[in-house]
Amino acid sequence: MREGGELVFVAVGANLDDREATFAAVVRALESESDLLLVGASTVYETDPIGPPGQEAYLNAVLGLRSWLSPIELLHRLQSIEVLLGRDRSGAAERWGPRRIDLDLLFFGERCIDLPELVVPHPRAHERAFVLLPLAELAPSLVHPRMGVTVGELVRVHLDSEAVRPWRRPEGWPGAHSESGPDRVAPDARR
Ligand code: ATP
Ligand code: CA
Ligand code: CA
Repeated sequence: MREGGELVFVAVGANLDDREATFAAVVRALESESDLLLVGASTVYETDPIGPPGQEAYLNAVLGLRSWLSPIELLHRLQSIEVLLGRDRSGAAERWGPRRIDLDLLFFGERCIDLPELVVPHPRAHERAFVLLPLAELAPSLVHPRMGVTVGELVRVHLDSEAVRPWRRPEGWPGAHSESGPDRVAPDARR
């Protein structure tokens, strides 16, 4: 098994067209990357949308990956997958408006990154139940490096703050699996 790499978490969201097919396509696209290894997948949730009114509900989930790409390389890879799957990145799309796919880099190990195009941990992850709930399934003991609290602690604060409902497992979405246990990806797991 390949050595090194860093454990990263990516949020997946979709609220346009065939959301389940998009989720399956995200998994296929990530699995085809030679510098990424999928190591965990949360339950999929359905979530009431934030942003402009009148939007469809989102499907949201979190994936755990081992990355041999740098943070910027990974961001760019995620953005190419978004475009491949039909994301309109022309600039015409309104902020938090409907989109076929949104891939956000939540955590990259315990690194803090402040670049114009990339802030890690994702600056709004800690306040979103639709991120924290699935992330806590994979990495409850992961420490938020800016806040000094674990994901498990954060999720407790946000548990009833938004409508986040468990959804069925889409065809092509991995069942519970991880590199270190039946349903956990330890933040310090090494391979
Ligand atoms: P939010 O960030 O509140 O979830 P959004 O996902 O709708 O909103 P986008 O329009 O998808 O926002 O992305 C806007 C920009 O955010 C991207 O062009 C990207 O450069 C930047 N960005 C900064 N940090 C991150 C991160 N951790 N993950 C993904 N994109 C990021
Ligand atoms: Ca987002
Ligand atoms: Ca985004």
